[in-house]
Amino acid sequence: MQGLMMDMPLLVSSLLQHAERHYPEVEIVSRRVEGDIHRYTWRDCAHRAAQMAHALSQAGVKQGDRVATLAWNGYRHMETYYAVGGMGGVIHTINPRLHPEQIAWIVNHAEDSFLAFDLTFLPIIEGIAAHCPNVKGWIAMCDRTHMPAASKVANLLCYEDLLAGKPTAFDWPQIDERSAVALCYTSGTTGNPKGALYSHRSTVLHAYASALPDAMGCSTRDSILPVVPMFHVNAWGLPYIGALVGAKLVFPGAALDGKSLYELFESEKVTYSAGVPTVWLGLLQYVGSNNLKFSTFKRTVIGGSACPPAMIKAFREQYGVDVIHAWGMTEMSPLGTISRLMSKHVDLPEAEQMNVYAKQGKALFGVDMKITGDDGQDLPWDGKTYGDLLVRGPWVVKSYFKGEGGDPLRTDAQGRSWFPTGDVATIDGDGYMQITDRSKDVIKSGGEWISSIDLENLAIAHPAVAQAAVIGIAHPKWDERPLLVVVKKPGANVTREELIAFYEGKIAKWWTPDDVQFVEAIPLGATGKMLKTRLREQFKDYTLPGV
Ligand code: AMP
Repeated sequence: MQGLMMDMPLLVSSLLQHAERHYPEVEIVSRRVEGDIHRYTWRDCAHRAAQMAHALSQAGVKQGDRVATLAWNGYRHMETYYAVGGMGGVIHTINPRLHPEQIAWIVNHAEDSFLAFDLTFLPIIEGIAAHCPNVKGWIAMCDRTHMPAASKVANLLCYEDLLAGKPTAFDWPQIDERSAVALCYTSGTTGNPKGALYSHRSTVLHAYASALPDAMGCSTRDSILPVVPMFHVNAWGLPYIGALVGAKLVFPGAALDGKSLYELFESEKVTYSAGVPTVWLGLLQYVGSNNLKFSTFKRTVIGGSACPPAMIKAFREQYGVDVIHAWGMTEMSPLGTISRLMSKHVDLPEAEQMNVYAKQGKALFGVDMKITGDDGQDLPWDGKTYGDLLVRGPWVVKSYFKGEGGDPLRTDAQGRSWFPTGDVATIDGDGYMQITDRSKDVIKSGGEWISSIDLENLAIAHPAVAQAAVIGIAHPKWDERPLLVVVKKPGANVTREELIAFYEGKIAKWWTPDDVQFVEAIPLGATGKMLKTRLREQFKDYTLPGV
């Protein structure tokens, strides 16, 4: 027997309509690349997304067509999200920190029909335009007065000219909720990047689940500043979650330094933020060295790489900001797990609660996870046994765009499909997952695994250490031994011996790094994560002491 409820497709256009109807006056504030602050409302956003949809339809964009962006977090970027997705197209967000050749490759692979970009990225566009024959128009996200005077890019269009005079309502099509809405390529450290193609259904379900109190916990009383870029897995869903709950959104544009962020946090009464650990280093350093406090900032989601407990502690104890540690992937839209206290943890001493905050957390409803051994058998949830982490759920990829890389899934004995994350993890009896390593970053010493994340988290707790990375170095007897690579805080001093001694009593003795190397900077990837592949390359001729 079928249920007798209406069959309304879950579409991103309905999120925008909801925000327009129920939160029309709630603000969206952006720091523009032009330098000034732009301020408008969800109603204005909906009107202008409709205008953009008219402009794109007139330019020939049809359902299923890809429209790319190369842009910072800002209101025009968000309008483009909703215009393209709402009309049945696919919004393809490109990471501008990739190499231009890789960007051109992605544009061609995705067969983007138009590409909208912030003026900051004009030099990239000028470099790639001639190599991207499918792109019919390059849309500069600015008004006529800011348009580049002379450019070698053919088919250069002005965003504001495209919108001017268009109707402020659009008849958003009621398409199949399984239709594609957004495309995001994984950063892919080896081989070609692969595209995760999100559907309307997966995007709306992900927004529902992420907004819940024990997930990201967002509300209309929040002023949310996503530091995580809109080209890094849709800013972790915040443009959609913001519409779902009717929150104020604050977009930082290109100014991601500590001072600019702090000013925006204060002037826009930001309560909530999200970003990878490396972006918070700059903000914490600025706030610390200027003796500042936050007036309204209360919670931040940190994920994308393991958040060191020292950072969680600094946010909590010095600034009264709760860190919500989350784990996910481009292939998971991105949210998989999030670490929140259960009732039984509430009265524990702070030090014991820290053990919970430091984990990557419990699965959201909608995400099923398990760990397996080399033989593919399930491993126990005892908080100690580690294995390959696999996931399944309605916002997890089943295949990459155009089938790139073949079938990524594994099938279990019951015939269920699982996506292997490439992460190694433990899961405890309460279902809290903790990432030990990316499987290719794990250090194998004498047949046993050493967690590079654990060693990095400990090093970063030393007051002189700004950043720490641990990599495996070939060893004739043990296969691999850990090397600690450190960036010191400005003006701080610490020796190799002091750092090695700092591990004493905190880990098994054989986990202690064999050596420490000090560097000016640790190479970061396009989404702000440490690039261990590059670091291993940098240290390929290095030999450990005594070898
Ligand atoms: P990406 O798809 O580029 O966002 O990368 C996803 C990968 O980032 C995951 O598979 C993990 O290896 C890593 N990652 C994400 N969040 C965390 C976290 N909280 N702790 C440790 N690793 C993380």
